[in-house]
Amino acid sequence: MSVKQFDVMVIGGGAAGLIAAGTAATNGRHVVLLEKNPVLGKKLLITGKGRCNLTNYCDVNELVDNTPVNGKFMTNSFYRFSSYDTLAFFNDLGLVTKIERGNRVFPESDKAIDVVKKLMKYISQNKVEVIHSSVSNIQLFGKLFAAKLIDGEVVRAEKLVIASGGKSYPGTGSTGDGYKFARSFGHKVTKFKSSLVPIEAMEFEPLNTRVRVPSLQGLALKNAGITITDSNGKNIYEDFGELLFTHFGVSGPVILSASSHLHTLENNILHIDLKPALSEETLDNRLQKEFKEYSNKNFQNILKHLLPSKMIPVFIILSQISAEKKAHQITHDERMMTIKLLKDLTIKLDKLRPIQEAIITSGGVDVKEINPKTMESKLVPNLFFAGEVIDVDAYTGGFNLQIAWSTGFCAGQSCAED
Ligand SMILES: Cc1cc2nc3c(=O)[nH]c(=O)nc-3n(C[C@H](O)[C@H](O)[C@H](O)COP(=O)(O)OP(=O)(O)OC[C@H]3O[C@@H](n4cnc5c(N)ncnc54)[C@H](O)[C@@H]3O)c2cc1C
Repeated sequence: MSVKQFDVMVIGGGAAGLIAAGTAATNGRHVVLLEKNPVLGKKLLITGKGRCNLTNYCDVNELVDNTPVNGKFMTNSFYRFSSYDTLAFFNDLGLVTKIERGNRVFPESDKAIDVVKKLMKYISQNKVEVIHSSVSNIQLFGKLFAAKLIDGEVVRAEKLVIASGGKSYPGTGSTGDGYKFARSFGHKVTKFKSSLVPIEAMEFEPLNTRVRVPSLQGLALKNAGITITDSNGKNIYEDFGELLFTHFGVSGPVILSASSHLHTLENNILHIDLKPALSEETLDNRLQKEFKEYSNKNFQNILKHLLPSKMIPVFIILSQISAEKKAHQITHDERMMTIKLLKDLTIKLDKLRPIQEAIITSGGVDVKEINPKTMESKLVPNLFFAGEVIDVDAYTGGFNLQIAWSTGFCAGQSCAED
């Protein structure tokens, strides 16, 4: 059995671990990075649909506002390494970046691999030693952390950074090992939940036995207003943006963001406003005008002016108005029903898709037990945490990777301090 010794040991070669390892090494530490995959940054490669939305170009207040779970805990590390620092960091490494809609930052090449390559350059320039093996357990012997690898090798270091990610997309290596390591040092790990995840929803509300939500599979609504209500009819979430219908229910950016705010989903109803730019009154005026102008057209044809074609057959069933009915025959009540469906199409939400399909794991190492300035454990000196393993999560838009960069940088720098 071989034993290797370092100043700093980082577990996890994802976004947080790579920046932590490189930063500690830049500060003169002898660093080892332990990664179970044969490649580094496997999850990074699939971020932003392979384009890697590496940060959001905005100030610290906005970063905090976009971090609904434990955003306040992040304030210090966001100041220490902000999204402007992220941009400067990657630009200094030679990555050309661009800023798109909503301040989302991407590599100009649109290739996530370019981000990974720059991080690999960063750690190799700073002589970080990389060992591709899975850590099976860690123990503290006196002042040294000892990580046992699956091949029996032991790696020791004075400081340890746990950056092994969450539990989502386990095929990328993030299988929740960090929670086990944290617990073994006495840390509390909060309850897990899928976040930024699609939602299963099969039935319209009220139930209509003739049509189900998956009939809309493949339809993308670019500008939908959504509201989610709880069992008492109280609004619990409101947003506007792109919504996608799938074979199991609903997805798309507005739904992913909504999922961060949902828990049991018991009797939660999704209300979709298909015409968010028009008030009910304006819509009524427009319908009356259309019904008059095309009085001999049938209902189905009138709907072509109002809805995407995939939605029309579903809409007709839900409205209970005959597709063949002529515009001039449509009654006041039927017109009101049309407006109701256009402004408030209701779907019963069933449950969040499993954590494996979530962009983010909500829950993790309890932030109360981590120093927000240094990412050091308040329970075990010289033990640090970085990235998704911590109980912090944010919306889409580059905010989650910013959490990885900020906490990784803080942990890397702090563990290089005496
Ligand atoms: C499909 C998808 C798209 C996303 N797109 C974006 C986006 O565009 N922008 C954005 O901001 N966020 C995005 N995210 C979220 C973002 O990827 C994560 O927040 C971020 O990768 C977390 O980084 P991390 O370093 O903490 O963890 P990870 O990237 O999960 O890295 C952890 C690493 O630790 C290794 N590891 C785990 N256990 C062990 C062990 N026992 N021994 C050795 N190694 C171990 C793993 O193999 C893994 O490589 C996306 C997530 C997904 C799933």
